[in-house]
Amino acid sequence: MADISIKFPDGKSKDFPEGTTPADVAKSISISLAKKAVAGKLNGKLVDYLTPLSGDGAIEIVTKDSDEGLSVLRNTTAALVRIALKKQFPAIRLGEVSADEDGFFVDTDKDDQQVSVDELDALSVIVEKLVSDKSDIERISLSKADALATAKDDPYTTELINAVDGDAVSFLKIGDYQVLSDGAQLANTGDVKKFKLLSVAGAYWQGKSSNPMLQRIYGTAFYKQADLDADLAKRQEARERDHRVIGNQLDLFFVDPKVGAGLPYWMPNGATIRRTIERYIIDKEVANGYQHVYTPVLANLDLYKQSGHWAHYREDMFPPMDMGDGEQLELRPMNCPSHIQIYNHHIRSYRELPLRIAELGMMHRYEKSGALSGLQRVREMTLNDGHTFVAPEQIQDEFKSILDLMVKVYKDFDIKDYTFRLSYRDPKNTEKYFDDDEMWNNAQKMLKGAMDDLGLPYVEAEGEAAFYGPKLDVQTKTALGNEETLSTIQLDFMLPERFDLHYVGADGEEHRPVMIHRGLVSTMERFTAYLTEIYKGAFPTWLAPKQVTIIPVSEEKHGAYADKLAAELKAADVRVNVDKRGEKMGYLIRDAQTHKIPYTLVVGEDEMANGTVSVRKYGEDDSNSMSSDAFVKEILGDIASYSRE
Ligand code: ATP
Repeated sequence: MADISIKFPDGKSKDFPEGTTPADVAKSISISLAKKAVAGKLNGKLVDYLTPLSGDGAIEIVTKDSDEGLSVLRNTTAALVRIALKKQFPAIRLGEVSADEDGFFVDTDKDDQQVSVDELDALSVIVEKLVSDKSDIERISLSKADALATAKDDPYTTELINAVDGDAVSFLKIGDYQVLSDGAQLANTGDVKKFKLLSVAGAYWQGKSSNPMLQRIYGTAFYKQADLDADLAKRQEARERDHRVIGNQLDLFFVDPKVGAGLPYWMPNGATIRRTIERYIIDKEVANGYQHVYTPVLANLDLYKQSGHWAHYREDMFPPMDMGDGEQLELRPMNCPSHIQIYNHHIRSYRELPLRIAELGMMHRYEKSGALSGLQRVREMTLNDGHTFVAPEQIQDEFKSILDLMVKVYKDFDIKDYTFRLSYRDPKNTEKYFDDDEMWNNAQKMLKGAMDDLGLPYVEAEGEAAFYGPKLDVQTKTALGNEETLSTIQLDFMLPERFDLHYVGADGEEHRPVMIHRGLVSTMERFTAYLTEIYKGAFPTWLAPKQVTIIPVSEEKHGAYADKLAAELKAADVRVNVDKRGEKMGYLIRDAQTHKIPYTLVVGEDEMANGTVSVRKYGEDDSNSMSSDAFVKEILGDIASYSRE
């Protein structure tokens, strides 16, 4: 048999007989490597551990402790789940399968009822049995015709098979079962160690909202119990932080896809949080020289043609409304053209610059349905937007002063976990952007210079700029682990030109201003989602929808005293309610804790006689007795302190 030359990651090569497998290669290196190995990576592509190698190439041995090693394990676990599904529900149809460092999923579709979360345990038992059978996993190749014959009544598998290039379709043979598969696999079902089927959720076939909704089964797998336990604990923590879960528990908001995907309804509790943020930010901005305005969400499409949004941003915009008389109205995807109208409404002088215009501006973006998530990514949003118009020589100072304000605002909200990202245009794809190389080079340099001056750490990201200029983004992580932009400062040399903006300089001549777009606390939607997750729903007192609940021991005897206290607190602008449901005291106290209300006051005989209250703070086990006046003072001090530190 001919020899093939195999190159190792350290650059050395060795000859092996043709047909050698990654397993043979691993064993030839060391027994300890062979023990950890689960697959090979041939010329950069993952292959099965027992794939016969037929030509020269570079090989890496993939071990259990790598991300790729985990993907291989999850590929095989997903294949076993598919077999288990077929055993349990012979008529089930199977869609896409995916496995990566987060876990795996299998898409399914059934005639009667979709697979439910209650059925996952029974499926796990079948998978366990397949594991304990210790069957070899063989890769076989079927002709397209034979492959299609295995998928008779399953339109999804049929489509997946038809999409394979060429006539050979790769299947796995495990015991008596054959399953469609791609992706590298373990050599034996017994190598699947610790797995867990986690949840189910609807998912459109191939991610398109016009396609049928399938049922996606999520799971994960590890080689060690300790790793699985740690992962499950992390998932539990993420669930506890997930703003969609907390939003439901605390009755903050809801989204009903039947009424409109990505169009949230704010319930009174969520609306209270939002209103508090809105008032805070408007006051802060006004104090920092911003002039707040209101502008319409609708404008003639021509405005967005002039701004360039129609040419560069159309796929994120809702289609225009044809008014029947030749006029086309567009829901704005950004507020900048509106603020430009405000700037242009008067002749501006250099004395007015930097001119800071701000608005809590509602905008609409047609985000992909698969990207929508609670309040975090929506289709209608209200941005804490601001545009500063500056003379070119004022850019750096204004940039720094915006950043300074942003950091102060972050302190008030106790936001600590974020990173700065300088977003540049993609140098390989410059036609996507406003066409002015000099502008891009200068502006990118200017932002970098300002960040270096301030000594702030940042990462640089090519291809993340807006189409009109580079930007500084503040990146945070959601409970689900996705990185999202919270705040942004963006330079723009393009719109002032497109709208022919001017100011009269000290020399009496007309000059072109530069625009800086900035969003300090993002959209009300994303910011509320973010705060909900960092506080795990336990909002600091100044933001909490309900700040105090008063529980009278007996409504009949102490209700009037409770009402009197509530009236005093209301008069001091505290959000308070008296819980008169008459349930058992223990239940009412627990309920106040579940709703994460910062202060629970219990009032009974002693309190009424002495003019005191028994105060229990959220998260604390003990109560404190104090005079009602002292309590009012304490809570007002707490509300005024903003930062929880
Ligand atoms: P992203 O990359 O997150 O889609 P973007 O760069 O398109 O955002 P900008 O045009 O800079 O967004 O919008 C300003 C801010 O509005 C963003 O920094 C982000 O915090 C927030 N935002 C953007 N899109 C959404 C959305 N669909 N839902 C909620 N908030 C959003």
